[in-house]
Amino acid sequence: RATRGGEEVRGYVPSMGQIFLRRFQLVTQFRQSLEDEQVSVHYQPKITLPNRQVQGVEALVRWVHPEFGRLGPDEFVPAIEAAGLIGVLTSFVLEASLRRARKWLDEGLRISVAVNLSVRNLADEDFPAKVARELERFDVPPELLTFELTESGVMSDPQKALPILRELHSLGIVLAVDDFGTGYSSLAYLRQLPVDQVKIDKSFVLGMGTDLGDLAVVRSIVELGHSLGLTVVAEGVEEDVARDQLEAMGCDVAQGYLISRPLPEDRLEAWLQARTA
Ligand code: C2E
Ligand code: CA
Ligand code: CA
Ligand code: CA
Repeated sequence: RATRGGEEVRGYVPSMGQIFLRRFQLVTQFRQSLEDEQVSVHYQPKITLPNRQVQGVEALVRWVHPEFGRLGPDEFVPAIEAAGLIGVLTSFVLEASLRRARKWLDEGLRISVAVNLSVRNLADEDFPAKVARELERFDVPPELLTFELTESGVMSDPQKALPILRELHSLGIVLAVDDFGTGYSSLAYLRQLPVDQVKIDKSFVLGMGTDLGDLAVVRSIVELGHSLGLTVVAEGVEEDVARDQLEAMGCDVAQGYLISRPLPEDRLEAWLQARTA
């Protein structure tokens, strides 16, 4: 995180008024920024363990703002959510991702795409129908689409979120619990959710080389996930040692800088080609 937007932020602490103004600008400029192609989707590959095949990619949104420079999602997604514009963002990312998946299918590649959802997507009753239409439009099989959602997101309003999750799941879409291990992880809840995957939060994966507590958490999530019949994904894999440890524990999928950073479309294509050559 140290370098993102580094030039403008380092050594400069904006006032509350400036932060407020910036959020306001981001929100009012968001729709236009999509049209102007300032917003784009980067993709980070995930590989299976132990055979290290490309399993899929995670879509991660980016905004190159004419005034504020390169913005990571943490810097604008919360504002977009609060302004009620998350539907617009999710549609944009979903469409880009399905277009990608379609292109790969045309090339004979079955690579799944994972899209991050906000809790507010799960408050939209029409969301599953919209997703079904997009899958049809791009003619992508639902099992090649994964939605990642945080536990706290689902649990903040389970009455509302659960029926929508069930509907998405019954469409055949893969559901993953993101950032697992943080927040109010309740094992009982995990059993009740219609999910297929858990993603171990990167804080534990980053720490497991030096912190026995983190290592224990990672190990128990792998075991728990498997005992519930779930696929276990580790994010934040930065070192060979971590990958090897995860492999030895039986973790199913790895994602992180060791494998690749999130890449723009053209660089991802080059990465895939180099890898499958
Ligand atoms: P996330 O879903 O937990 O995504 C993983 C984050 O970890 C990404 O940050 C990714 O770039 C970063 N990462 C990947 N590998 C490594 C690694 O090896 N080491 C370290 N230290 N970090 C790694 P990013 O792209 O800044 O995204 C931040 C968060 O913004 C995401 O966390 C996700 O919650 C949210 N987000 C991103 N794109 C979208 C989107 O399209 N819609 C929504 N609703 N949220 C999004
Ligand atoms: Ca995610
Ligand atoms: Ca995560
Ligand atoms: Ca996160």
